[in-house]
Amino acid sequence: MELADRGVRVTLYDKSWPPRGASWAAAGMLAPAFEAAPTPGTHSKLYELCDASAKLWPEWAKSLQSRTGIDAGYHPGPSLAIATNAVQAQSFEAVLTALSGRPNAPRDCTSVVRDLEPAIASEIKSALLLPSDGQADNRQTVAALVAAVESHANITIRPGQAPLKSVRGVLDHAGHDATLVCAGWGTAIVKAEENGTPHSLVNWDVSLDEIDCYGGQMLAVELVAGAPKMTVRCGHLYIVPKADRIIIGATTEPGRVLNQAEPDVIAELKQNAAALCPVLADAPVIESWAGVRPGTKDHAPLLGETQTPGLFVASGHYRNGILLAPITAHIMADTIVDGKVSDLARAFSPRARISAEV
Ligand SMILES: Cc1cc2nc3c(=O)[nH]c(=O)nc-3n(C[C@H](O)[C@H](O)[C@H](O)COP(=O)(O)OP(=O)(O)OC[C@H]3O[C@@H](n4cnc5c(N)ncnc54)[C@H](O)[C@@H]3O)c2cc1C
Repeated sequence: MELADRGVRVTLYDKSWPPRGASWAAAGMLAPAFEAAPTPGTHSKLYELCDASAKLWPEWAKSLQSRTGIDAGYHPGPSLAIATNAVQAQSFEAVLTALSGRPNAPRDCTSVVRDLEPAIASEIKSALLLPSDGQADNRQTVAALVAAVESHANITIRPGQAPLKSVRGVLDHAGHDATLVCAGWGTAIVKAEENGTPHSLVNWDVSLDEIDCYGGQMLAVELVAGAPKMTVRCGHLYIVPKADRIIIGATTEPGRVLNQAEPDVIAELKQNAAALCPVLADAPVIESWAGVRPGTKDHAPLLGETQTPGLFVASGHYRNGILLAPITAHIMADTIVDGKVSDLARAFSPRARISAEV
């Protein structure tokens, strides 16, 4: 949409319309501190990218609402992180150290955690208040984006795969000037056809192979009296209150393309949530589902032009694709329309990532 807003004529191909990928399946947390604090194994600039995007969210949500009338359900932080064992408590120390001195830095709130969120059970080791970590309603956000692109004069929607072809290895971009591939976990395997044979786009840039699948399962329960009002996180478990339901998630299952949730996994998630917030034990389940995150080893997305001129990628956002939506739009439009790549954006370009590995 950002491309179209800047005057580019866009044809949008999606094999399911309206889209129901990971963006629909997510929990909508906008959590730079919990998800992206600089820790070993995480891309060194991921926090900076997530933090910059979190700052864009309030305006982005407002502009989506004014053009579509749909509320993206944006709420600023804080969220709470709870440690129930020594390992989790130790990881909080690392987060506090890594983000110390930054505006909106997390702080220890162990002694007041039950004043902040009375729904939390008594047996905890420590707690952090995360002022930077807010949330949105991702399904509402997707609905607003769909409404915005459907009514955009510069966008043509074509349900289905892009009819990409190649001649002696050169992409035809389906008759356009350029291709931006952003097909979630399936980005590397989007096809271009040469002489009737489909070839995966990874053949045009090996960096796309970085993008792997990470299945995730979640459920939503009804709002019940005394339920948490704040997002509460504990290890991989999170409880995210929305206006009309409470989301409980999530598994992270590398290499799994999940189409539906598994009853035993959902039961365990609910049980774990009830151990943390006992009032949830009897909350009726509304829905359970599964989705597939597009992830990379260092949890950072690929954003920019590939080794093949005119082939751009924006994918691999792992657990932060909702958070990173506004900055992804800006980076890709700056790159494609203006040829401008900021220092921050350069750190996520496919070319930089390949050279970092050499
Ligand atoms: C359980 C779960 C919880 C999550 N929670 C959060 C959270 O709290 N906060 C957060 O920021 N992120 C969260 N995420 C991560 C976030 O959802 C993803 O990073 C983000 O949605 C990825 O967006 P995407 O557009 O790349 O992929 P998707 O949303 O999956 O979209 C990809 C689109 O490409 C289309 N497509 C695929 N292949 C083709 C093809 N060959 N041709 C045409 N179209 C194609 C699909 O139909 C789909 O519409 C979560 C994800 C999951 C699964």
